[in-house]
Amino acid sequence: MEDGKPVWAPHPTDGFQLGTIVDIGADSLTIEPLKQKGKTFLAPVNQVFPAEDDPNKHVEDNCSLMYLNEATLLNNIRVRYSKDKIYTFVANILIAVNPYYDIPKLYSPETIKQYQGRSLGTLPPHVYAIADKAFRDMKVLKMSQSIIVSGESGAGKTENTKFVLRYLTTSYGTGQDIDERIVEANPLLEAFGNAKTVRNNNSSRFGKFVEIHFSEKNAVVGGFVSHYLLEKSRICRQSQEERNYHIFYRLCAGASEDIRQRFYLSSPDTFRYLNRGCTRFFSTKDTDKQILQNRKSPEVQPAAGRPRTSGTVNQSRETLEHCAELLGLDEEDLRISLTTRVMLTTAGGAKGTVIKVPLKVEQANNARDALAKAIYSCLFDHVVTRVNQCFPFDASATFIGVLDIAGFEYFEHNSFEQFCINYCNEKLQQFFNERILKEEQELYQKEGLGVNEVHYVDNQDCIDLVEAKLVGILDILDEENRLPQPSDQHFAEMVHSKHKDHFRLTVPRKSKLAVHRNVRDDEGFIIRHFAGAVCYETKNNDALHMSLEALVSESKDRFVRELFENSNNSKDSKQKAGKLSFISVGNKFKTQLNLLLDKLRSTGSSFIRCVKPNLKMVSHQFEGAQILSQLQCSGMVSVLDLMQGGFPSRAPFHELYNMYKQYMPAKLTRLDPRLFCKALFKALGLNAVDYKFGLTRVFFRPGKFAEFDQIMKSD
Ligand code: ATP
Ligand code: MG
Repeated sequence: MEDGKPVWAPHPTDGFQLGTIVDIGADSLTIEPLKQKGKTFLAPVNQVFPAEDDPNKHVEDNCSLMYLNEATLLNNIRVRYSKDKIYTFVANILIAVNPYYDIPKLYSPETIKQYQGRSLGTLPPHVYAIADKAFRDMKVLKMSQSIIVSGESGAGKTENTKFVLRYLTTSYGTGQDIDERIVEANPLLEAFGNAKTVRNNNSSRFGKFVEIHFSEKNAVVGGFVSHYLLEKSRICRQSQEERNYHIFYRLCAGASEDIRQRFYLSSPDTFRYLNRGCTRFFSTKDTDKQILQNRKSPEVQPAAGRPRTSGTVNQSRETLEHCAELLGLDEEDLRISLTTRVMLTTAGGAKGTVIKVPLKVEQANNARDALAKAIYSCLFDHVVTRVNQCFPFDASATFIGVLDIAGFEYFEHNSFEQFCINYCNEKLQQFFNERILKEEQELYQKEGLGVNEVHYVDNQDCIDLVEAKLVGILDILDEENRLPQPSDQHFAEMVHSKHKDHFRLTVPRKSKLAVHRNVRDDEGFIIRHFAGAVCYETKNNDALHMSLEALVSESKDRFVRELFENSNNSKDSKQKAGKLSFISVGNKFKTQLNLLLDKLRSTGSSFIRCVKPNLKMVSHQFEGAQILSQLQCSGMVSVLDLMQGGFPSRAPFHELYNMYKQYMPAKLTRLDPRLFCKALFKALGLNAVDYKFGLTRVFFRPGKFAEFDQIMKSD
């Protein structure tokens, strides 16, 4: 950075602003903004970056810029976004900004055709380019592929996932039923697993890995969906302006009279689990826009009755009756199971006597909610199982899997659900580092480039903190639940005592947790994640009492019975004989996640980083500062560091040979590709610091391949 040359300096809302350096201090620079001549401000040295000569220039592959840093990346994305170019490459990583409106022809059948069989970089960046690369790699290398789509809520993960699936089935399907079924599974999964939140009107509240399976001949033969971590708390509670899962409103709005009567349906306003957040949401695509406002049937009691004494269920008799009927249970059995808890007593030496302890109102409410959550979660498992039965396959040679899973998140209150999502993101971040950064480094070494080692923050310590045997948080949680009287507070204490002075772990300050609820300050912990620190509360109300679970698994209704029989929850809980089933969730997820990562590691991979342009969810609004923070969270900044210090563009000798031989005299083309390239570079007088010859390919410094290509083509 030189005096007088433009630089990018921090800006509170835009992320960065152009300016010039007017003075250099020990660790800060004095900047004069381009837009406010005469005014200056101080900026830390490490937050000021060199700018390209022309800030309005944009490039399809960010690596063809001269300066690779977070500011030039943000600017490149910004300029492109203003021209409706929402996709940008950073080498092989695709960045996708959500346009929040339908860009004409962007996903048309003609566009699909254009991308078929075309190498990355030959057409403008597009999600189709990634999909086609995955397909071609699968075909050529005979190796399964995965596409990892990440980003925060509302960034466009699910939409891009759908474009990939549609692209692959349209381009490489057999034109049979199966192609359509893979695509059509989505509306069903979204009905049961998506909900309106403040961040996204159609937010996926579960993660999924959708595999499209291909035959030896690379034609679509079937599919398989794995799902992760359905958000259960939403079943019983929604924040203001949020809703429960779409299916409930759609059912209330669209069910036939017959079904309405059989299931005692009425307006969503009359259901406790639906009427706390917002009940109406008029989206263009939803059938629930027809919510029948006039249909409030007076005879259906609001489910939210007032509790009177302790030991009574917080529900009207009629609701209890309907529930019992629909679940195939005896009304009195259900009432007792909801209001009491079976305990083994050791009192008075009468070891093993079973007694029924009445529950307090709050406990009974929790028991009811736990039951609702367990039922819905089993139901969702069932829906996915049924979906998978619709595209079975016998002989699959390879697959392309698309991972659509929530990005790193933190809220005012963070529970076990956020803990699992962020743990998952730590694992995915590690995989990303492994693939992009480690592999880059290994490639330099393998090709004998003699480039300095690339440094990146390894997050293995954070992963260990969660999943290590015995001392990891998940195992400590298990241990806690094996105690005769598990407690949230003791659990938190154990976590802290096993990890004194751990860099990633701290005790929350009193004020943070104690504000709203009666939570003691030691009932939680703060984890310093790669993307930021998050405070987790250890309160848990999810425990489904044994007596309730036992009751439902013996329902007279076969469907209900089977839901529970097939669910892992019940097996686990039975083994634990009456202990909380909470622990099984954590351990089940750890196992699932490790299986997923094993799978990802055995495939070739591509990454799509989705970006949400603004919080208002509107088109044509680019909020630089918050986009910058998304780029930082997604690990893109370390990729840029790596690229800036390295050789981000590269081309195998034979490719360069084929590309440019037409421009060369016949004499040169008789050389082998490597010598051909050497002679060519010499003849052009390229600066030796701008490229390096490896064993199989040439590597270019940032921006230099584009320059070289231009010289060749203009001659
Ligand atoms: P969540 O984590 O909450 O599930 P997400 O990343 O999956 O969020 P999407 O549901 O894919 O986000 O996108 C949110 C909304 O943004 C979509 O419903 C759609 O309206 C709009 N959107 C996303 N991508 C595009 C696109 N490429 N073109 C037009 N609109 C889009
Ligand atoms: Mg989604």
